[in-house]
Amino acid sequence: DTTHGRILYLEDVSVSFDGFKAINKLSLDIAPGELRCIIGPNGAGKTTMMDIITGKTRPDEGTVFFGSTIDLLRYTEPEIAQMGIGRKFQKPTVFEQLSVFENLELALKTDKGVRPSMFFRLDSGQGDRLAEVLHTIHLADGVNRLAGNLSHGQKQWLEIGMLLMQDPKLLLLDEPVAGMTDEETVRTAELFLKLKGQHSLMVVEHDMSFIETISDIVTVLHEGSVLAQGPLSQVQNDERVIEVYLGR
Ligand code: ADP
Repeated sequence: DTTHGRILYLEDVSVSFDGFKAINKLSLDIAPGELRCIIGPNGAGKTTMMDIITGKTRPDEGTVFFGSTIDLLRYTEPEIAQMGIGRKFQKPTVFEQLSVFENLELALKTDKGVRPSMFFRLDSGQGDRLAEVLHTIHLADGVNRLAGNLSHGQKQWLEIGMLLMQDPKLLLLDEPVAGMTDEETVRTAELFLKLKGQHSLMVVEHDMSFIETISDIVTVLHEGSVLAQGPLSQVQNDERVIEVYLGR
């Protein structure tokens, strides 16, 4: 439900670990089809924020809504995944012994948390989706390659493809271009620009030129709340942001 013009909505969210406020009255919203980049120094709360959205961590207070009607705090982590919120951690986790095709097929079989079925066959709609995903992730020519033989960047794309097979509404990605070559980074930007509009994305990144290519609005987190928000050129020149990054 996107009638209120947002797919994700956090208001005054706080969480403490042993008395330390990792997230402190955090408010944020994401529009449907938006690609939001999240930046911030180590310890700013980026991972904890994603843990809260995906139901891994319960906040002590605040509101977290998916669309305008779904109160995410009422659901468990697997339920939230089933609703169409996909998450990718920093390191690639593909099945190295399986082919590109088999990895994508497996992502479909395990859709909605159902156990992989031995008798599973792709229907024509799923076959079309698989072909489209292969093209999007730049692996159309590598369907039968063993995932273990792919480059680091290709493994990252394959894992994004596995998420796409489940047709997520919102994708949360942690440092997708870390460790990629320059060329892989450029092609990842192409991939993201293609996803934008069809999916909503929240991308935690450090690579500023990558962010510049893909983002509309950048949110700067610091000490568990939003320090600044706006186009990259604007937040980069924000004095508070400069201070935080220079550690003064
Ligand atoms: P970021 O991802 O921006 O680097 P994190 O969300 O990982 O920041 O961490 C925010 C702060 O919360 C850090 O100071 C971290 O040490 C602390 N923190 C995160 N998770 C836990 C936890 N489970 N227990 C204790 N402290 C935590």
